Amino acid sequence: MSSSWWRETDVLSILLYLIVLTLAFDGAASSNQLQLPECEITDVVDTPITFFVSKEAMEDYSPFVRSSIIDSWIQTSNQILKNSCVPMRRTFHQVVVADELNLVEFDEITLVHDLLEYHHFEQIEASASRPNHYYGVLFSTKRSTNTLPEQCGMTYVDVYPQFFIADLACSSDILEHELGHLAGAEHDIDTLSDQIDVRIDELKEITALHQQHAFRPYAFGYRCGGKGTVMAYADEWLPVYSSPDITYKGIACGGAKFANNAKRLREYALQLQERMVLDLNASMADVKANPSATTQ
Ligand SMILES: [Zn+2]
Repeated sequence: MSSSWWRETDVLSILLYLIVLTLAFDGAASSNQLQLPECEITDVVDTPITFFVSKEAMEDYSPFVRSSIIDSWIQTSNQILKNSCVPMRRTFHQVVVADELNLVEFDEITLVHDLLEYHHFEQIEASASRPNHYYGVLFSTKRSTNTLPEQCGMTYVDVYPQFFIADLACSSDILEHELGHLAGAEHDIDTLSDQIDVRIDELKEITALHQQHAFRPYAFGYRCGGKGTVMAYADEWLPVYSSPDITYKGIACGGAKFANNAKRLREYALQLQERMVLDLNASMADVKANPSATTQ
C-alpha cells in the first residue's frame, strides 16, 4: 500500500513538474516576435533570495516540485532581466521551513512579516542587512475558497524593501513581478488607476517620504501586441520589462515618458552597486578602527 502511494506521489510530482515547465516557457514561447535591444551587460549585481516555505506550501507540494518551481521562477526572472538589459542576476540562497505560517495570514503582509521576524529573526536580519538580498514567503492557496486568483503575490515596499509573498501556483513571472515592485516598478497605468483612488500625477505625493526618491514618472508597465510586460496585468505576458526599445509584433512595449520600467531597474541596479560599495567601505573602516574584532 505504501509503495503504490509513493508511485502515485511520484506521478503527481512529474505531472506538476511538467506543468511548471509549461508555465516557465509560456512567456518564452511568446518571445518569437519580440525584438530586443542589443546591449552589453557588465557589472552584474547578484541578488540572492531566501525562500521561507509556509505550512500549506510544505503540505501541498513535494520538495521536488517546490524546488522545480523556484528554479523556474529564477530562470524566468533572469531571462526577463537579460531581455531588458538590466545588469542584475537572481540567485537561490536558501530554503527555510516556516511551517508556523498558515494560509490565514496570506492577506496581511505585515502579519506575515511580524510572525517571520518572531520565528526567524536572525535569518531576516542576515538578508535585510545586505542591500542586494531578498527574502520571501511561499504560500499555497490551492485549498482556499476565498483567495482571489489575482492575489498571486504581495509586497509593501515602503516598509519592507526586500520582502515579498508569493503563491506557488502562480505563473513563473511572479517572482520578477514582485522584485520589480521592490525596485520601484509599477503596474501599467490602466491597472494602477483601477487600484488606487488618486490620479497618477498625484502618486508621488502619496508615496512614503523616505521612498519618494525612488519614484519615477516613467516606471509603469505596458501592454503591447495584446500581451503585458512583466509589471502589467494581462492574460498573457512577455518576458520583458516595459521599454520603448523593445517591440512585440512591431509595437513598442513602452514609452520613454510613461512606461520604461527597464530603465528604472537599471537605475536600481546601479544604486544597489553603490550601496554595496558603501557597506564594504564601512565594514573595512570598522576593521581598521577595531582590528581585534577580526580575530574573534
Ligand atoms: Zn503587482
